[in-house]
Amino acid sequence: AKMKKGNSYSFYDPALQTLLEKQAELETDLVRAIASDEFCAYFQPQVSSSGKVIGAEALIRWNHPSKGLVAPNEFIPIAEQYGLIQKLQNIVLRDICILIAQLRTENIIDELFSVSINISHCQFNSSTLKTELLNTIAGFDILPAQIKLEITESMLAGDIDNTVQQMEEIKAKGFAFSIDDFGTGYSCLTHLSAFPVKELKIDKSFIDKVLDDATGFSIVKTIITLAKSLNITVVAEGVEALAQHELLKSLHIDAIQGYLIAKPMTKSDYLVWHKTNIAN
Ligand code: C2E
Ligand code: CA
Ligand code: CA
Ligand code: CA
Repeated sequence: AKMKKGNSYSFYDPALQTLLEKQAELETDLVRAIASDEFCAYFQPQVSSSGKVIGAEALIRWNHPSKGLVAPNEFIPIAEQYGLIQKLQNIVLRDICILIAQLRTENIIDELFSVSINISHCQFNSSTLKTELLNTIAGFDILPAQIKLEITESMLAGDIDNTVQQMEEIKAKGFAFSIDDFGTGYSCLTHLSAFPVKELKIDKSFIDKVLDDATGFSIVKTIITLAKSLNITVVAEGVEALAQHELLKSLHIDAIQGYLIAKPMTKSDYLVWHKTNIAN
């Protein structure tokens, strides 16, 4: 069926209709869930090649009353679409602050320990990012330098001058930037050198192939070498096997993150994990 709507034709598509209804339902559920405090951050540790716990990545989870734990890929796109992402970001940031403050109180981290937060493209492009960050961390006994903002390469694809300025302003407040899923976008390392970036994370898809063949190995090796020449720290994500870890160490990777070390955990489980693993 063809329906006239303004000057454009839209086609009635039952599958699309079902999808839209599902999205609308999810949106209503998200609004309810935010009000009932069903979101929290999980934490996955990052360990240096010498075994030191250097930080963690915060990953949002939805503790749904009937569905159980819902993974971010299922709701982040909807939250972005319906303007709810800011609220979720603030929940994650608040949890990060609570964790860092706790670790500081117990005196079990140094000032180099940092926790990463995933920044959505909506947030990154918003002029309020800096003030949102500063407002949320105010009142906690933490340093902005202990928070790392993970953005993806595609977010750097817009106007370079504007982006660099936005990043410099946030960096001037003390926050650091990390490029997530590195290698999956279209940028290259030389392009990256224009931006104030402290760290890059090699995407899991490359780490998966590092042991497979010469190409997988060379790609990872090249990323590490070039990043080091630009003074950018390199983290491998999705490390699952000891053999991967050993190979990455031989390539002088700075840090690794993955199920080999630990899966993402609740804040209290992370605290226990941290205490038993800082002895190294
Ligand atoms: P990401 O930023 O690339 O996060 C890494 C994902 O890989 C996480 O999935 C993590 O649980 C998973 N992972 C870590 N180590 C391993 C491993 O060794 N093996 C395997 N198979 N997986 C591993 P998760 O938590 O489901 O998050 C998925 C994506 O959702 C994230 O990808 C990120 O893009 C997004 N996301 C998560 N939390 C947030 C958030 O607070 N805000 C925003 N905007 N996005 C978020
Ligand atoms: Ca990430
Ligand atoms: Ca990633
Ligand atoms: Ca990834």
